[in-house]
Amino acid sequence: RQSVDSPLYPLLEAAAEFYRQALKSHPARKAAVDYLKGRGLSGTIARDFALGFAPPGWDNLLKHLSGDALQQKAMIEAGLLIENAETGKRYDRFRDRVVFPIRDSRGRVIAFGGRVLGDDKPKYLNSPETPVFHKGQELYGLYEARKSNRDLDEIIVVEGYMDVIALTQQGLRNAVATLGTATSEEHLKRLFRLVPSVLFCFDGDAAGRKAAWRALEATLPNLQDGRRARFLFLPEGEDPDSLVRAEGSDAFRARLEQQAQPLADYFFEQLGREADPRSLEGKAHLATLAAPLIEKIPGANLRALMRQRLGEITGLSGEALSRPHAPGAAIT
Ligand code: ATP
Ligand code: MN
Ligand code: MN
Ligand code: MN
Repeated sequence: RQSVDSPLYPLLEAAAEFYRQALKSHPARKAAVDYLKGRGLSGTIARDFALGFAPPGWDNLLKHLSGDALQQKAMIEAGLLIENAETGKRYDRFRDRVVFPIRDSRGRVIAFGGRVLGDDKPKYLNSPETPVFHKGQELYGLYEARKSNRDLDEIIVVEGYMDVIALTQQGLRNAVATLGTATSEEHLKRLFRLVPSVLFCFDGDAAGRKAAWRALEATLPNLQDGRRARFLFLPEGEDPDSLVRAEGSDAFRARLEQQAQPLADYFFEQLGREADPRSLEGKAHLATLAAPLIEKIPGANLRALMRQRLGEITGLSGEALSRPHAPGAAIT
């Protein structure tokens, strides 16, 4: 990790302040304000997440912040400016976008996400990897969630900025998002240091379902006994933001309580879809898929129970399942 006194921190903080001010007072702010209002955000929630606006134009931030060549170099390093490799020309990375400051667990601004105000592409733009921003480790909203409650017992992991913000506005203040990357073992390690229970709630689409399985895989090596993970699958086409706004927080909470599937259930259900346990071949395939994943679980009790369940499904003895796979026997 970068040392505490990286010069990038004050620079990123100053950029966040610039974007925040622009949302309040820039002449072009109306489009951004209308956009956020149109998505149901209150002024309060925009303030809580320190949302900002990168005005249209190539050099708003550049002009506002850059004193000298050294400062511009730092701005490039912080991901705020882009330098054209051929011409050497420098310009603002975030232009004409709503800006979401991303904070580390101590509340320092380390990066930004930016969303277009309409349907242009790319819809979201994130800061690149920098000395202070490592995508695969950070979770959007974690600082804000912990600020509102130091003593969380569960964290909800969602896909997007707007999902975190919409849930928070509806009183579900324990949501965090991965930053356009798959949920990693590193993410889970951090989360389980804070809470014993993690609930994944991804978009109701093919990408969301795929993300859920990857999250399961990242969870397994972190599953000590006493920890749990659950999965809530949303109706096709919905994401947490769209759904909580459509049905309200009570209905969404009820969904979380009644429909979230324990990891083990999702695990066997999903593998049962891939290998049909009604035939012996299917059972064999299922055991081949499931056994190595189960072995990743550090919790001895959960691991034993999962093996037992796999045994019940396949008819294979616990002993056969836990034996390391026989090396390919030489054919003579
Ligand atoms: P919105 O509701 O604002 O349309 P979303 O959050 O529902 O957006 P998704 O397409 O579901 O958008 O993507 C989920 C998350 O993945 C986004 O919030 C963003 O963090 C990330 N993401 C999406 N598209 C991109 C992209 N083109 N580049 C980088 N990250 C992206
Ligand atoms: Mn999606
Ligand atoms: Mn969405
Ligand atoms: Mn989405």
